[in-house]
Amino acid sequence: MSNDLKSIHDFDFTMICNYFKLLERQGPGSPEVTQKAVSFINELSDEAKIADIGCGTGGQTMVLANYTKGQITGIDLFPDFIEIFNRNAANTHCENRLKGIVGSMDNLPFQNEELDLIWSEGAIYNIGFERGMNEWNRFLKKDGFIAVTEASWFTPERPAEIEDFWLANYPEIDTIPTKIAQMEKAGYTLTAHFILPENCWTEHFYAPQFPAQEAFLKEYSGNAAAADLIAGQRHEQSLYDKYKEYYGYVFYIGQKR
Ligand code: SAM
Repeated sequence: MSNDLKSIHDFDFTMICNYFKLLERQGPGSPEVTQKAVSFINELSDEAKIADIGCGTGGQTMVLANYTKGQITGIDLFPDFIEIFNRNAANTHCENRLKGIVGSMDNLPFQNEELDLIWSEGAIYNIGFERGMNEWNRFLKKDGFIAVTEASWFTPERPAEIEDFWLANYPEIDTIPTKIAQMEKAGYTLTAHFILPENCWTEHFYAPQFPAQEAFLKEYSGNAAAADLIAGQRHEQSLYDKYKEYYGYVFYIGQKR
């Protein structure tokens, strides 16, 4: 019984990966926004150590590498994403600075105070913003930087439909002042924060999904779970179109005290 459950579970993950690996990035963001976030961070040396946590296939990591010095370790739970990450690093001749490894953000393979910079776009929600901010703190050197994007409410109140959607999917979504207070409490001084522009969702995240969805549905033709996955993605996008004034991603950049 448990073996059956495990195989169903594994299949779902494989299927989800097979969809998201068709995309250059697995969450909202853009090269411009990654560059803007880097601009708030003190210049790093060639010896700097950087971790990109929940890196996916590394769309943002390749940009990060262009605007920083030092060694970058990308970490993701899914081996297929890491394989693409390392292939992209080799194709862009960055393999001596960029290394993708399989691992989990709740069990990071770093020493205390080893890192100069922790990066994480659209991924900290997997363990929760507050937990991630607290648990990752020890890996940063004093005065080291953290830069993450996180789903946040833009208004104190929202229509019930979007509130219910987020509370069912990520109840830790909260207002920007609350996120900043959580970050400060976890031992960082806020350096900057800014809302990701709409094109991070529309142009860079949803638009590339149209052809990917067609290809994926063809590959998984007749598979109900695959159809559900795509229906879920389309629903999420329609909610964004309808309610984007109420929520979005915010880049939070802080320095360890
Ligand atoms: N940072 C990438 C981007 O912006 O395109 C990927 C963002 S995607 C929304 C979230 C990523 O977190 C996925 O690649 C997923 O595999 C990864 N992930 C989920 N749980 C994880 C965990 N426990 N440890 C490491 N990575 C995880």
